Amino acid sequence: MAKITSINGRLIYNSRGSKALEVDVVSDNQYLGRSCAPSGASVGKYEAVSFPNDQPEESLRFLDEISKKIIGYESDDLKFIDEVIKSVDGTADYSKIGGSLAYAITIATMESASKAVNKQLFQLIGDQNEYRFPLPLGNILGGGAHAGPGTPDIQEILICATGSKTIRDAIETNFAVHKELQKVIEKVDPTFTNGKGDEGGWAPKCKNEKALEFCVTACENLGYTLGKEVSLGVDFASSTQWNEEKGKYVYERAGFENTPEKQIEFVTGIIKKYKIIYAEDAVHEEAFEDMAELTAKFPDTLIVGDDLTVTNKNILKKAIEQKSCNAAILKVNQAGSLYDALEFAKLASSNNIKLITSHRSGESIDSQISHIGIGTNSKMLKIGVVGGERVAKINELIRISEHDLIQGVMEI
Ligand code: PEP
Ligand code: MG
Repeated sequence: MAKITSINGRLIYNSRGSKALEVDVVSDNQYLGRSCAPSGASVGKYEAVSFPNDQPEESLRFLDEISKKIIGYESDDLKFIDEVIKSVDGTADYSKIGGSLAYAITIATMESASKAVNKQLFQLIGDQNEYRFPLPLGNILGGGAHAGPGTPDIQEILICATGSKTIRDAIETNFAVHKELQKVIEKVDPTFTNGKGDEGGWAPKCKNEKALEFCVTACENLGYTLGKEVSLGVDFASSTQWNEEKGKYVYERAGFENTPEKQIEFVTGIIKKYKIIYAEDAVHEEAFEDMAELTAKFPDTLIVGDDLTVTNKNILKKAIEQKSCNAAILKVNQAGSLYDALEFAKLASSNNIKLITSHRSGESIDSQISHIGIGTNSKMLKIGVVGGERVAKINELIRISEHDLIQGVMEI
């Protein structure tokens, strides 16, 4: 097997123009794996810490120490590499070296290993005989922590081409809805600046329900029936609204407040009215019981944990025990290392928790998450619709579709 021969790191910039850590790992002096860690805006309380003291430079300083301990070892030995990283870090949340460093080293190493054996990265991540494409899930309208004042409090309204049978059709359907939505918004608001949120979703000045209606109209204008060719999803990102002192969800932009009971009614109303098939973080990140109530109420909707489960195996165990979700987001940088994230994926799959591999709002133009989504058997791949850093992941799916290894798209 190929051996790691060199490692280099640098600080580059992400889609928000903020510093991001990139690592190059070379095996057998020729197989380059390169990975840059993304970063979130609505960050879960229990996620891995991205950088020690918020200083990317401090994180990079630990690369040498780790490199010395893994150079000369096999690049596909993810468990060993993870153990070395953890031994240098010594904390439970990567607060000493930064989760970004663990992310970039582990993914770059696996990419290098995949090149050395002339396999696709997803083949090193999964061990299936047959793979399927996760359905792309894309942000078409943004608000909350991803867009400015006047936009909806809800963070994301998402499109998913649930009726598509091929990956290209699924991708093109998402593009079509995103384009049509621009026209719908412009018709209602001629002053619309065509502004977009961090993930490329339109960011109109409107309240939550109006935003959902815009999205329904865009789908209908294209002749689609919700729940058939396409379905809508919502990332409520409710921890953004949750006010611990008041014990209420504060919808500042729309001008109302919800008690926890009212929040469940609010979410229930939206899921029913807009035939939502995907509801992420519908309540705040510590409301395991309220999530369980929604999971029991909507067995046919993906009730998804993101800030709730933070790609953390121990927290997922709690969510499984309490039946708090039937689906969970997999964001490698929430966990830190790819090894941790794959352990999370195994636990989810063996407990019938559907996986959604996801980008972050601050992204690089890397595309390894497209492979991670396939390798982990994710049902959906949350990668946005437009913007270079989003399209990079979409285009990688098209390249992957040239191989014979994949048999169609996932059914939801
Ligand atoms: C999300 O909340 O699902 C998301 C992608 O946003 P962020 O990266 O800001 O957490
Ligand atoms: Mg989320």
